[in-house]
Amino acid sequence: MKIVVVGKGGREHALVRALVESPGRPEVFCFPGSDAIFQLAQPVPADGLESLVNWMAANDIGLCVAGEESYLVKGEGLANLCEKAGIPCWGPHLQSAQLEASKEFAKQFLERHNIPTAKAIACATLEETVAAIGGKFPTVLKFDGLAAGKGVAVCMVEPEATAFLDEVFVQNRFGPGRVLVEDFLTGPEVSIFAAIVDDHYLIFTPARDYKRLGEADAGPNTGGMGAVASRRLIPAELLSEIERGIVATTVAGLRKDNLPYRGFLYFGLMLTPDGPKVIEYNCRFGDPECQAVMPLVKGDLANFCLAGAKGELEPGLISFDEGWSVCVVLASAGYPETSRNGDVISGLDAVETARIYHAGTKRNGRGEWETNGGRILALVARGETRAEAVTNAHAATDLVSFAGMQRRRDIGIRNFED
Ligand code: AMP
Repeated sequence: MKIVVVGKGGREHALVRALVESPGRPEVFCFPGSDAIFQLAQPVPADGLESLVNWMAANDIGLCVAGEESYLVKGEGLANLCEKAGIPCWGPHLQSAQLEASKEFAKQFLERHNIPTAKAIACATLEETVAAIGGKFPTVLKFDGLAAGKGVAVCMVEPEATAFLDEVFVQNRFGPGRVLVEDFLTGPEVSIFAAIVDDHYLIFTPARDYKRLGEADAGPNTGGMGAVASRRLIPAELLSEIERGIVATTVAGLRKDNLPYRGFLYFGLMLTPDGPKVIEYNCRFGDPECQAVMPLVKGDLANFCLAGAKGELEPGLISFDEGWSVCVVLASAGYPETSRNGDVISGLDAVETARIYHAGTKRNGRGEWETNGGRILALVARGETRAEAVTNAHAATDLVSFAGMQRRRDIGIRNFED
């Protein structure tokens, strides 16, 4: 089987590795890919969505796996174009990917299907937004579109809201779009992933990501500084409640609304005092949660995705390791405001207790790996217990260095109740 994975980050590095290691040893390609990914997969000579699909059609590609979201909502949509070309695609159609691309669409979907979420008001102008906030803080403001993880402001006080609204409505930083004013919720966050195939679903190992730059969740929001994953992360009764009230109702809602869905769906949840509520949907695996979860997936991921893309959920093809997985992200100097490229990375060869997934790296002319982005590497270790996974992941991280490297030493350590 020949597979194309779409994306270029740490998540795609983890997906590519899991697919390459599937028992049938499929031939894996990646677009646009990265130097590290191309050690496992072959590059695709394409320069955009249409040429990618044309190349897949001309080269007998048997499965396309969407890693990142952008191609799902570009032009006619990756999955839609694949369908036209007769290529099975693991990733949803353009219409369904609006669950991620438009926060207003997602909010209406959640309300229509009585899925627990925060109340929100959609506003078109600065004045409307200020009126909807009504002087009540904390409040949460969400730009209604893809904003590379920068479109949400949790505003504890008024000046934070003023600054965000200035970016949206005055500087037009994200382009045109509306803003949701959402009730501020409290509670620990958990990431639930499901493989959805039409009416059926399979829940993967739950994970938690660490969004803030600093230890003890201090500092600015980032794309994610690490993650922990385990079946034991949340109690079984809570997972059943999430399955009944959120996952199953979402799948039923997609069917009712005629939104075709075959692919991973991420549920970003907050465990509030009133029960779990949906903060957001993403139409693909999370990053860095994917890097934490993939090493726990056993069996034949390639055929699982292929069967799913063709309309059959085959849970028997994979199983989940009952242990723990901890993923520590190493970020470059200046991240998240800026990032510094060109710092040489040392110590990767010494790592034995963790897998290394590359996010923002490139190989220089001397054959060394160097920084090339904000989040650089994810080091992922497994353990029978949380403590063992934590020790292995952090010990591996101690061996790697580059100038200005940023990492959190508390990834995986604190539990929800701490
Ligand atoms: P999102 O991009 O929607 O996941 O939001 C990014 C982060 O903002 C979430 O992970 C939460 O930490 C926070 N957040 C989003 N919505 C709310 C809310 N209604 N109440 C409190 N925090 C929120």
